[in-house]
Amino acid sequence: MWRVAAWRAAGVAGAGTSRSASGSAASQLRRRLESELEDIRGAGTWKNERVIASRQGPHLRLAGGGTEGILNFCANNYLGLSSHPEVIRAAVEALEKFGAGLSSVRFICGTQSIHKDLEEKISRFHQREDAILYASCFDANAGIFEALLTPEDAVLSDELNHASIIDGIRLCKANKYRYKHMDMQDLEAKLQDAQKHRLRLVATDGAFSMDGDIAPLREICQLAQKYDALVFIDECHATGFLGPNGRGTDELLGVMDKVTIINSTLGKALGGAAGGYTTGPKPLIDLLRQRSRPYLFSNSLPPAVVGCASKALDLLMESNAIAQSMAAKTQRFRSKMTAAGFTISGKDHPICPVMLGDARLAAVMAEDMLNRGIYVIGFSYPVVPKGKARIRVQISAVHSDEDIDRCVEAFTEVGRKHGALP
Ligand code: PLP
Repeated sequence: MWRVAAWRAAGVAGAGTSRSASGSAASQLRRRLESELEDIRGAGTWKNERVIASRQGPHLRLAGGGTEGILNFCANNYLGLSSHPEVIRAAVEALEKFGAGLSSVRFICGTQSIHKDLEEKISRFHQREDAILYASCFDANAGIFEALLTPEDAVLSDELNHASIIDGIRLCKANKYRYKHMDMQDLEAKLQDAQKHRLRLVATDGAFSMDGDIAPLREICQLAQKYDALVFIDECHATGFLGPNGRGTDELLGVMDKVTIINSTLGKALGGAAGGYTTGPKPLIDLLRQRSRPYLFSNSLPPAVVGCASKALDLLMESNAIAQSMAAKTQRFRSKMTAAGFTISGKDHPICPVMLGDARLAAVMAEDMLNRGIYVIGFSYPVVPKGKARIRVQISAVHSDEDIDRCVEAFTEVGRKHGALP
C-alpha cells in the first residue's frame, strides 16, 4: 500500500533529505508523475474542480466565500431531480429500511428486493424485457461488449462515442469499425465490409454530450435492418426527457422496437445519485449477470441510491410535466441566444453548446460569466476538435425563466466585452 511513510522511507519526501534514494523506483515514479502533471498544466488542459458547498441545483453556493447565489448551468441535472424533496425522502427511507450498503456483490449476498424492483421498473419504463443494474453507466458500457461479442463478431462505433463506450469496445475481441460521426454513408460502407462477420452491432450515443446533437437513429435502424445488424444506444443524455414520454432517443425518433440494447445512467436526469444499467432482451440480461465483469466483481448499488432512482422513475411515469417544462426552457434559451447573435450547436437538446471557436476566448468568457454569478464551463481541444472551442450550457427543468434570461443577458454582455458579438 502506498503511504506517506513509504514515500519517506524511500527518501522521496523532498529534495535534500538525508535518506535521498534518487535511484529508487518510488522516486523515479514521483519524478515521472510530476513531469507528466507539468505537461498537463503546460498544455493548458488542467482540470480544476470547483468545490460546491450546497446541494446540487440551479442555485449553488461554492466553497471559499465570495460566491453566494451562483446560477448553475453545467450539471446534467436535466429534470432537477437531484435535490427533489420526494427523491431525497425516498433515499432516506431506503437507507433506514435497507441499510447503508450490501458489503457484497449481487450474486453472493447483495441483491435486495429494491434492486429487483428497480430493474423491473427500468425495463417497464423502456418497454424492454429485462434490465440489470451497475454501479455506473461507465461500468455498464465496460461490461457489455466483452460479454456479448466474440472474435467472430463486429462492432461499428460512432467516432465521437463516449469514452466509456470506446473503453468497453477496447476490452472486447470483436472486429472493430469506427464510422465518421453520424455519417450514414460511412456507416453503410463499414456495414458492407462487416458482412463477413457472424454478428454486427452498431453502437452510438443517443445524444452526444459535447454537441447536443442527436444520433440519426431512424437511418441507423434502417441500415441495421438492411445489413442484419443490432443497434445499441447509450442514453445517458436522453433518458427521462427526450421523446413525448421521456423514454429517450428511440421514442423521440419512433424506433423503440428497432433498438435492441439500451445502456443508461441513474446519475444524470434520473435523480443524479449514481448507477447505470443495461436494458434489452432477457437472454442478454441473463448472460450479463453471468459474464459481465463490472457486474460480477463490484459491490451492489447502495439502497439510498436505489431509492433515489426508483422515486425518479415513479415521478416520470406519473407525468411528463417535468420533461415538458425542461423542453420549454431549452427552447427559450436557444432562441434568445440565437437572437442575440450566438451560434448554438445541436437542436432541441438541453445541452446547448455556445460555439466560440477560440480556446482562450471560451476560457476567459467562462471565467467572466462566473464573475457575474453564472457557472458555465468552457471546453477546448483535446476534449473537442481544434478550432471548435465552446461554452457548454445545460438547461434544467428547475431553472426559472428569470434564470434563463439572466444567463442570456450575461452572455450578451460578456460576448460583447470579449469580441464574440459585435
Ligand atoms: N455515457 C455517456 C454518454 C456519458 O455522458 C456518461 C457520463 O458522463 C457515461 C456514459 C457514464 O455514466 P456514469 O456517470 O453513470 O458512469
